[in-house]
Amino acid sequence: MCHLPPGGTAGGASYQRVYQTGERPDQMCDAGVMGQLEQIWSDAAAEVHQIVVGPMDNNVYILRCRRTGDAMLIDAANEHEELLEICRQLGVNQVVETHGHWDHIQAVPAVREAGISVAVTSADAGMLPSYDLILEDDQQLRVGDLRITTLATPGHTPGSICFAVEGTNLLFTGDTLFPGGPGNTSFENADFDTIIQSIDRRIFAAFDADTLVLPGHGTSTTVGNESPHLDEWVERGW
Ligand SMILES: [Zn+2]
Repeated sequence: MCHLPPGGTAGGASYQRVYQTGERPDQMCDAGVMGQLEQIWSDAAAEVHQIVVGPMDNNVYILRCRRTGDAMLIDAANEHEELLEICRQLGVNQVVETHGHWDHIQAVPAVREAGISVAVTSADAGMLPSYDLILEDDQQLRVGDLRITTLATPGHTPGSICFAVEGTNLLFTGDTLFPGGPGNTSFENADFDTIIQSIDRRIFAAFDADTLVLPGHGTSTTVGNESPHLDEWVERGW
């Protein structure tokens, strides 16, 4: 569900996670350490935790307000028992989905059963077995004192959406933007021109170079690392 060149670079001064290029034969996804929860970012107000789950090495992120202890989980991807334990530990009371692909949604029924609401865009809602709330473009979400702005970025799926945390350089991009290019658009209902427009107009034109891009698989990057390469991606067609 992703294509990444080997050796993507991690960005951001406080981003200390070290990824290694895996032994995977296709060398496509630089994954983190499977099944290990790590705090990967923090400032005075917020912290971000990450765990890698499932057969596609999905990144699951937990954004937590340090003052109130409220937290949001991004992509209830897989390994629901592990994720439910993390939800209890970190105070997660809402889940948002970056898009509806199967590898990002396997734990949705379990978290809903535990009383945690799940939000997804209307365009991708039909890909989920069930959900609670619909995400709109340019919506303000709250996690304790934190404010999260949604940005619709169709292309990988019609309802793909990213999440920017106000007052930080954090941008959760799902499978829309990775180190080295856009997410895969070879699936049904995906569109390359649309994902390029989304990345160009909604991400590169709108966010500073030091914005930390936290994708749905593999390593992080920054807007500044990626934006100079947009024309190359258009030229190569993926
Ligand atoms: Zn996907």
